[in-house]
Amino acid sequence: MAYDPSNIFARILRGEIPCDKVHETEHTLAFHDIHPQAPVHVLVIPKGSYVSWDDFSAKASDAEIAGFVRAVGEVARLVGVDAGGYRLLANHGANSHQEVPHLHVHIAGGRPLGPLLMKAG
Ligand code: AMP
Repeated sequence: MAYDPSNIFARILRGEIPCDKVHETEHTLAFHDIHPQAPVHVLVIPKGSYVSWDDFSAKASDAEIAGFVRAVGEVARLVGVDAGGYRLLANHGANSHQEVPHLHVHIAGGRPLGPLLMKAG
């Protein structure tokens, strides 16, 4: 799948629309999810143009990958979910119901989150 530069997270990265920023590094940006599914629900995205984990893991530089993995951990500590526990989730493609075609890792926490997956309808 080709990267679509009109996706909403690309627009946030270009400063065209605002976000509720939590953290930023050379390679990453983290912000609160606009429709939180848990008391803490933050998204971490790479600044590079990657559709999903599949694209990122195949094409990103080692510095981008290391920076992204470190940022996810830093953000979880920053928002205070490390002690109680949290869930990381990254959707890739149609079966996962990925809505925004720019890689993002969801960090969710702040309450017991229950089982990992819902049964398909
Ligand atoms: P996914 O289904 O994994 O692609 O998740 C996309 C997520 O992006 C959803 O949880 C949305 O609530 C969130 N989202 C969409 N637009 C925005 C926005 N402008 N700012 C913050 N989060 C957003």
